[in-house]
Amino acid sequence: MSELYELGIEGAAEGLAKGEFSSVELTQAVIDRVRAENPRIGAYLTFDEEGALAAAKAADEAIANGRAGAWPSRLLGIPVAIKDLINVKGQPCTCASKILKGYVSPYDATVIKNLKAAGAVCAGRVNMDEFAMGSSTENSALGRTVNPYDVTRVPGGSSGGSAAAVGGNMCIAALGTDTGGSIRQPASFCNCVGLKPSYGRVSRFGVTAFASSLDQVGPMTKSVTDAALLLQALAGHDEMDGTTPDEPVPDYAAALAGASLKGVKIGLPKEYFIDGLDPEVKRLTDAAVAKCAAAGAELVEVSLPHTEYAMAVYYIVAPAEASANLARFDGVRYGHRSARSDDVFNLYARSRAEGFGPEVKRRIIMGTYVLSSGYYDAYYGRALKVRTLIRRDFEEAFAKVDALLTPVAPTPAFKIGEVQDPLTMYLNDLFTIPSSLAGNCAISVPAGFTADTHLPVGVQFIGDAYREDRLLRVAKAFEGAS
Ligand code: GLN
Repeated sequence: MSELYELGIEGAAEGLAKGEFSSVELTQAVIDRVRAENPRIGAYLTFDEEGALAAAKAADEAIANGRAGAWPSRLLGIPVAIKDLINVKGQPCTCASKILKGYVSPYDATVIKNLKAAGAVCAGRVNMDEFAMGSSTENSALGRTVNPYDVTRVPGGSSGGSAAAVGGNMCIAALGTDTGGSIRQPASFCNCVGLKPSYGRVSRFGVTAFASSLDQVGPMTKSVTDAALLLQALAGHDEMDGTTPDEPVPDYAAALAGASLKGVKIGLPKEYFIDGLDPEVKRLTDAAVAKCAAAGAELVEVSLPHTEYAMAVYYIVAPAEASANLARFDGVRYGHRSARSDDVFNLYARSRAEGFGPEVKRRIIMGTYVLSSGYYDAYYGRALKVRTLIRRDFEEAFAKVDALLTPVAPTPAFKIGEVQDPLTMYLNDLFTIPSSLAGNCAISVPAGFTADTHLPVGVQFIGDAYREDRLLRVAKAFEGAS
């Protein structure tokens, strides 16, 4: 390890604890790296350098007072990049949309409160697809992010800025959000670990809502251990988010001790091993399966028979919820207000027409349509029923296996501008959407590189709801075997 910015949470925390460097030095190293690399990669939209150094200084004081492991978390003094839809008091929160350009958060999201309480340095805001709708970060209205492994390619999305910041060593770790794959797919494209926690495991209070029955905040990191350490600070009950149960949070890092695949039952859902998978993704996924077998896992073929309907269900449920959630952006309460309005209805219509980008408008139109009178039962009502069947598929599978192994996305990172058609873009989430609909936890772990193009590819492990401890153990053992 040559440079401080290359460290993950585990290594940085160790160096800080041993006094090998200070948080100010670590943070300055990240700032210098961002200054040097961000013009090329475009991961960050904004970075509050002064705020970062002030937080780092406070962390150094806390370390000086409470060394020897007395601090509650290993995040003390660690710079974490924040996806630009999570509110941090006093910082912009644009959701990469023109409609929120210039908006400054008046409060901290619960996940940010938790990170700050743990001593993390939350100062940089990273790019994303507008309102988290997309799979390439090309839908950002505020800047372009490229893949640090090949700057002619996309970083994935919607948490593309988070993935590019982690994969490009412009932060120690990052927060992303995942509604249908937005943590896992960019993690796969940029060689990171990306964990989507189970629905309700992490509070969404202060996180701009896309599809409320699906959204989760999760860690994007340089190792599985780092994902466990970051999840620890994020997870738990929050009275401000009614979907978070008051259930104990396991010690995720402790659960990793002695992680092994010996005797672990890994299910291979046959619906996920389809024709049309990129040959290099197929090769690397097969290699991951072989690695698990060699490490002593028991491989079991399973079936999730309703998988083929997941895409259709998602593109009814998610836009329906988005159309309702985005109704609050009306030019009155937040962000952009049209200058060309003479009455209040024109003000709403024009502010929204000027402020939202084409993909967001498409989702609002789709969502409004499937919820409209006369169509509600035919689309939304039926989608909810099929969603239940998809959830049952997973419940039956997890009665037999400890985790499922699947590809993350059908292809490695594609070229910027290559995918123009929205439906082709939607297919990126073919393998990540079903577990989102079911509320399971799932993780993308680096699985290797494509032969000719040298692009990173991840493999997905899916775990039973609220069994992040078990999922992380599997992922850690896989990472060790790789
Ligand atoms: N790509 C999917 C979409 O566009 C998922 C996005 C997400 O998970 N936020 O809806």
